[in-house]
Amino acid sequence: MVLEGLNSDRIYASARQGFDMAFWTFLLTLCLEVWSLDTVKNVLKQKGGGLPLYGAAIFSNLRNHFLFGIPIYTVAAYLFCCDDNDEVTLTSSERLTSIASILFVQSVCFYTAHRAFHSNPNWYKYHRFHHRFNTNVPPMAANAVSPVEYVFAYILPFTLTLPILHVDTLSLRIALSIVSVSNLMIHTPKLSAVSERLLPVWIVSTDDHLEHHRKLNTKYAAPTFNVDYLVDWIEERYFQKQEETNDDSTSSPDPKKPQDTSTSHKRLENTHKNDTLKFH
Ligand SMILES: [Zn+2]
Ligand SMILES: [Zn+2]
Repeated sequence: MVLEGLNSDRIYASARQGFDMAFWTFLLTLCLEVWSLDTVKNVLKQKGGGLPLYGAAIFSNLRNHFLFGIPIYTVAAYLFCCDDNDEVTLTSSERLTSIASILFVQSVCFYTAHRAFHSNPNWYKYHRFHHRFNTNVPPMAANAVSPVEYVFAYILPFTLTLPILHVDTLSLRIALSIVSVSNLMIHTPKLSAVSERLLPVWIVSTDDHLEHHRKLNTKYAAPTFNVDYLVDWIEERYFQKQEETNDDSTSSPDPKKPQDTSTSHKRLENTHKNDTLKFH
């Protein structure tokens, strides 16, 4: 009975769009992977890597794109986007605003979720698989994440803006494509030098994200707007001024260093240290 009100043509069209997004993302991953064969070979040779790790990365890409990505896209596009068959056409500026808003909210939400994953051992376990690619980061690592990370850090940030924005599926697909391509680019080491040279500081470069893979406790922003840069700017502008007014003898804490010395934080630091050693 509940299904009676549903528009099956729209559901099919949304599912088809979701499939296209998954298919083209995976195909681009494969192309970049062929281009990055040296990195792939290093993953196959690395300590704690080899075929089991690389096979798990391919499996998680397929599972995330096709098993989770398509149904979630279908539901989100059906529920929150304007009907493509309606005569409602967004103007270019409305579409640009929608895309920019989706990208900005996605960046902030991803940054928050990513930083949270690195702040607690109970959450880091959901992100640890992605960091098995520490020094050797092939494009396949871009979507080699656990289901929890994929749903909460990759997909959910997209859907948050949709209920409040007037979005059509084209805007959503453009925003998704920008994020998918950027995510692959920041996991393609061969683009490191060129992205560092061409991109402005407020966009995440490949070098930024590869540094995060190596060190684990810095540069959490990905894959478009550099939220680390924004956070640093806010900290420098507002918090340092406050600190300057404090008495130096009280040895005020460095805002960039985590001050939590609890057991769980120490446990997380040890896990980070082990991962940087183990997967290098
Ligand atoms: Zn990554
Ligand atoms: Zn991380």
